[in-house]
Amino acid sequence: MAEVHADGGPIPHIPDDLTIPQFILDVHHPARPTLRKIQPWLIEELTGREVGSDELRARTFGLANALKVRWNIGEDDVVCVFGPNHIDYAVAIWAVHRLGGIISGANPAYTAEELEYQLSATKARVLITHPGSLSVALAAAKKAGIPPERVVVFDAAEGANNTTIHELVEEGLAQPQRYVERRLAPGEGKKKLAFLSFSSGTTGRPKAVMIPHYALLANVIQMAHYTNAKDESKPLEMQRYRPGSRVLGVLPFYHIYGLVVVLHFSLFIGSTLVVVQKFNFEQMLDSIQRYRITHLYIVPPMVVLLCKHPAVKKYDLSSVRHLMSGAAPLSSELMTQLMQVLPECWVGQAYGMTETCTAVTFPPIDRKIGTLGSGGVLLPGCTARVVRPDGSLAAPREPGELVVTGPSMALGYMNNPQATADTFQDGWVRTGDEVYFNELKEIFVVDRIKELIKVRGFQVPPAELEGHLLDHPDVGDVCVVGIPDEYSGELPLAFVSPSAEAEARIAKDPKAAEEVRKAIMKHVSDHKVNYKHLVGVEFIDVIPKNPSGKLLRRFLRDRAKEMRASG
Ligand code: AMP
Repeated sequence: MAEVHADGGPIPHIPDDLTIPQFILDVHHPARPTLRKIQPWLIEELTGREVGSDELRARTFGLANALKVRWNIGEDDVVCVFGPNHIDYAVAIWAVHRLGGIISGANPAYTAEELEYQLSATKARVLITHPGSLSVALAAAKKAGIPPERVVVFDAAEGANNTTIHELVEEGLAQPQRYVERRLAPGEGKKKLAFLSFSSGTTGRPKAVMIPHYALLANVIQMAHYTNAKDESKPLEMQRYRPGSRVLGVLPFYHIYGLVVVLHFSLFIGSTLVVVQKFNFEQMLDSIQRYRITHLYIVPPMVVLLCKHPAVKKYDLSSVRHLMSGAAPLSSELMTQLMQVLPECWVGQAYGMTETCTAVTFPPIDRKIGTLGSGGVLLPGCTARVVRPDGSLAAPREPGELVVTGPSMALGYMNNPQATADTFQDGWVRTGDEVYFNELKEIFVVDRIKELIKVRGFQVPPAELEGHLLDHPDVGDVCVVGIPDEYSGELPLAFVSPSAEAEARIAKDPKAAEEVRKAIMKHVSDHKVNYKHLVGVEFIDVIPKNPSGKLLRRFLRDRAKEMRASG
């Protein structure tokens, strides 16, 4: 039996002595350096404001200078960006990198408790946010010991006098350089951390995934190499990105897909990125038409809307040449419908995860669509094994756990040697996803073995919700599982065995069951971001566990599915 199941082939050199801003901002795109100078790099969706390379470089310098002078931000200091996409998002990342610091992106819809968890886990020193999230940011910062003056905003917030990024940029630009640019020794890029991105991995609560500069550069180069982005000798249809490509930056940059594929990859290959601050479907259609978007990177719920929303017919979407869906499975049915909505467009899926610093597979370069249901083919530099539960290699087409390696793998989970050892093994990452490869080396993601639930592409770690629910006095024991949902992919449902006290109340008055259910659901909605809210609570006498006390999740997940099917 072959030692590996699929191999994406060789890759070109990946610099291990450059930071991300040095690579993206300072090293010129070999194929079209002049064009990159003329074309805007970013466009702000709502205003149409264009930002080019010179302005980005200057703003990055200004912000780095001010962060150094004001708060002495430097080696391995963490700056948390708790905001939606913004025209200055990349500036914030690169300024911190120029100083040797680390970026941790957080969902701006998080509650103060969720944000505080991330701020404390990463020991963040500065928090960048936006006006809509300022009060939550200040509350979380206070608890995490970040002084309020170190909570800065992308845009001025009404009624608050927090410093804006723009003010910091101006302040930094008005002074001579006060910082020494962080440079890397040969090989250092493989260890020097650039990001702490959160993922729950195969089990437990969200953990800080340690992503070095090299991992992001590697993934960007792998994608560029595979798509012939730099190779104008290839026929036009084999170059997925050509001069003038325009990408809609609608996926959030705080998630690894938005951060690596949408933001950094687009800029590296010379596409113009239209930065979308807030997702609104009709607005998205309007922007595709207005900006003549050529490339769409989206998640399955957006595909659902493209296939079913009546407004789609009102817009001219003919500029879209490539559409890629990722972060969660896209069904063959949806893919088929999508091809009818965008008949000229090449459509496909990519597969990846935070721990692999994003894309492991990409839609095939030589076919308009891959095999229906497939998640793409391995990128150059990636190698995959499909493994049975006993660790032996699965036969061809036999589903098993995907174990993958490549140059973009993260280094592990910060301060969590056990979880790191379980997932990161000699450069290979155990994905917790059940897959197989077909003869064309396309991947098919069959199921998720790990306990993670994904709602609209967002991670919902059951262990986080279970820990939280156990704090509620009506909950004796609990297990949270995902149930299928057409739009969201999955939704979290809690099986609850009521506490003795709640049980007594229900026994006395059966109507109390509804109150208990509502109270449990409210306990989640009061404290957690909206996509973690429970779709329902099912009462159960005893939460089933194996003899060693491990929750029998699959059993309950199947039971939830059956209950739903029988209405
Ligand atoms: P995240 O770290 O948030 O990007 O989540 C990674 C997980 O999302 C993977 O381990 C998969 O379970 C799931 N995922 C990502 N892309 C796909 C895809 N194309 N098809 C199915 N599942 C996917």
